Amino acid sequence: MFKENISIKDYNTFKIDIKCKFFSEFKNTKELKKILESSIYHKNKSIVLGGGSNILFTNDYDGLVLKNNINGIKIIKEDNSNVNVEVGAGVDWNKFVNWSVERNLSGIENLALIPGSVGASPVQNIGAYGMEVKDSIVRVYAFDIQNKAEHIFQNKECNFKYRDSIFKKELKNKIIITKVVFKLVKEPINNISYGDIASELQILKLSPSPKNIAKAVTNIRSKKLPNPQILGNCGSFFKNPVLEKDKFLKLKKKFPNIVHFVISENKIKIPAGWLIENIGLKGYRKGDVGIHKEQALVIVNYGKASGKDILKIAEKVQIKVKENYDIKIEPEVNII
Ligand SMILES: Cc1cc2nc3c(=O)[nH]c(=O)nc-3n(C[C@H](O)[C@H](O)[C@H](O)COP(=O)(O)OP(=O)(O)OC[C@H]3O[C@@H](n4cnc5c(N)ncnc54)[C@H](O)[C@@H]3O)c2cc1C
Repeated sequence: MFKENISIKDYNTFKIDIKCKFFSEFKNTKELKKILESSIYHKNKSIVLGGGSNILFTNDYDGLVLKNNINGIKIIKEDNSNVNVEVGAGVDWNKFVNWSVERNLSGIENLALIPGSVGASPVQNIGAYGMEVKDSIVRVYAFDIQNKAEHIFQNKECNFKYRDSIFKKELKNKIIITKVVFKLVKEPINNISYGDIASELQILKLSPSPKNIAKAVTNIRSKKLPNPQILGNCGSFFKNPVLEKDKFLKLKKKFPNIVHFVISENKIKIPAGWLIENIGLKGYRKGDVGIHKEQALVIVNYGKASGKDILKIAEKVQIKVKENYDIKIEPEVNII
């Protein structure tokens, strides 16, 4: 049931070669319960991993790494408008997106090609190209580590926010998500207003549909983002900061070309990638760590970088952004 002292390089997309003291995988709640009843579990700290695509290990992990492999995609309810689908937390997220668009179901097509597992999708409320997973989640099943009982969190109880939820905050390392129920819609949403989706569909000579939008998003992402199989990374390293209007207007005087998105009367979101690129850090490299040449928000491991090397560059970026704009940017990646 437990492996000892193994490298988890292949279990994190930064490809950091660190060792964990214990490692165990589970493919159902029965196996998970067994692990939680073991003395190894009781004597060690532990962390659950899906695809390892949003996590940075900065040291060897002196505890138990639990790899979630719970499988299964099952329709549990259907009417004229919607299909409710129960999905195991270990299912690959993009596999589920493909499953959905193959059936012409809508709701998650703009989230195509996001790496990782279904179980981690509610943790930071994954989002891209004008869609967030919170809008398709009905409920989340999670195993409470302390009392070893299953809890059901209805959508409202998950406290979903921008790249955030109760699972990333109050319940961090206290629960293990085992399955998620999604409500997908039969009438296509066809949200193509964000980014280059409309123009990519034109290039592909395709009309909007869940499947075609997923294809367009996949093409755009493949062009823009480094493939973690080839170049270690965790996607966006930082969240986009949200500023009060007064602060934004002051900044705009200094940087008239600042890219921004008005999200409410008094709140303006600034792409952290723009802030980093504008101070000339895009393409910066030190040793085996760098800021990606095409995407200033992505920190990459060119080979043998350690987690500490990556953290050092991330901290340097944070300091430079603070000095230049008086803005504190927060990591999106979970730093361990
Ligand atoms: C190239 C690239 C592009 C990306 N693009 C996007 C994007 O567009 N939008 C976006 O939102 N994200 C993006 N990401 C980040 C990442 O893909 C998502 O955050 C994804 O949901 C992480 O899934 P995972 O299974 O790999 O999580 P992991 O990295 O394994 O875990 C992330 C966190 O969730 C916890 N966790 C994992 N599984 C569970 C579980 N079953 N129960 C409880 N806690 C759990 C972990 O302990 C950890 O704290 C990108 C990453 C990469 C590498």
